[in-house]
Amino acid sequence: MSEKLLPFTKNQIEEIIKKYPTPFHIYDEKAIRENARNFKNVFAWNEGFKEFFAVKAAPNPYLMKILHKEGFGADCSSLAELIMAQKTGITGEEIMFSSNDTPAPEFLLAKQLQAIINLDDISHISYLEQYAGLPSLICFRYNPGPLKKGNVIIGHPEEAKYGFTREQLFEGYKICKEKGIKRFGIHTMVASNELDANYFVETAEILFQLIAEISQNLKINFEFVNIGGGVGIPYRLEQNSIDLEAMNSGIKKKYEQIIIANGLAPIKLFTECGRYITGPYGYLVSRVLHIKNTYKKFAGLDACMTNLMRPALYGAYHHITVMGKENKPRDFVYDVTGSLCENNDKFAIDRALPKMESGDIVVIHDAGAHGSAMGFNYNGKLRSAELLLRENGEVLQIRRAETVDDYLATLDFKNLSTFRV
Ligand SMILES: *Cc1c(COP(=O)(O)O)cnc(C)c1O
Repeated sequence: MSEKLLPFTKNQIEEIIKKYPTPFHIYDEKAIRENARNFKNVFAWNEGFKEFFAVKAAPNPYLMKILHKEGFGADCSSLAELIMAQKTGITGEEIMFSSNDTPAPEFLLAKQLQAIINLDDISHISYLEQYAGLPSLICFRYNPGPLKKGNVIIGHPEEAKYGFTREQLFEGYKICKEKGIKRFGIHTMVASNELDANYFVETAEILFQLIAEISQNLKINFEFVNIGGGVGIPYRLEQNSIDLEAMNSGIKKKYEQIIIANGLAPIKLFTECGRYITGPYGYLVSRVLHIKNTYKKFAGLDACMTNLMRPALYGAYHHITVMGKENKPRDFVYDVTGSLCENNDKFAIDRALPKMESGDIVVIHDAGAHGSAMGFNYNGKLRSAELLLRENGEVLQIRRAETVDDYLATLDFKNLSTFRV
């Protein structure tokens, strides 16, 4: 069982809404920091352990700066994310650049920033060499194929577009060694939102064994192993948090059995989690606009899937609290919807909730990762603001809401009058 607590009361959120109209995302800095410290401490036995926060989960420089202060790097996968890391003061080997189907300018910037470049395909070795030159440290993303089962978000590894096959790994490191590269890392990312600690222990074991084989075979040394992100969070009340201690002790044991026993230590352990780091500490705050009774009961919010797409995209569950009605019986069944002209624009389907009215404040939990980040403009919908609840209770706007002018900014209305049809 997980609890769904809120870092603000109804009165406090009403005060915040007076200044920042709904809908908005609000992040809890205190909880993010505490969670980050705990995450780091769990893996502290590994000298050089580093979490590279997956920027795509919550691409906001304020959050990145907080996490950087806590010792995290940034896992970037696009030009904009690289630039955001740079602007936040995260550069060099504090950036892991894990992209796929990568355009040359992105490799070029990653190289300029001296980021750790994690290649997704063997053909990218020559592409990188041609457009940016080879770096002194290289990492490859491994796709274990049938060795590993995937899940609904990421799919089966064999079907996934990511990574090298096992044979390609041997070949790729050989090519890079022959080209004079001396520093190596290995990476994989095969799960998303996984709550089973063993899954990550198995992943680490597969990588450790590969490191042992490749090191011996090619006479190269590995500096780090990046076991990826994908550590899950309990979206549902009946789910439990992942047992990080078990995950850690399992990985440590495999490290001793494989890495230390083969004389390959020290190897730095890296992770690149997004969801686990900010997911539970971000909330989408919205208001009920309309209650509609037809064949079903609908609670229509002033937020829509532009603000949080996960339910529509994966049928994902997000817990919902109606402020001030936390202790009322949940004896009404609603579809909680947005205003997009798509019938899957629903935050919840057939959800038991207290009786709602127009004006109620609704908080959607666990929206701190892959929430605001997935925002889009279909149907002329605008992305909402992001707020930060600071440790001293102050609220800072860390991204303003989009305006209609923003939406129209890429259109040229000046030439419309002379455009003959
Ligand atoms: C999305 C992604 C992550 C983060 O995934 P989470 O589920 O948020 O931990 C990490 N690495 C890569 C390469 C990704 O694509």
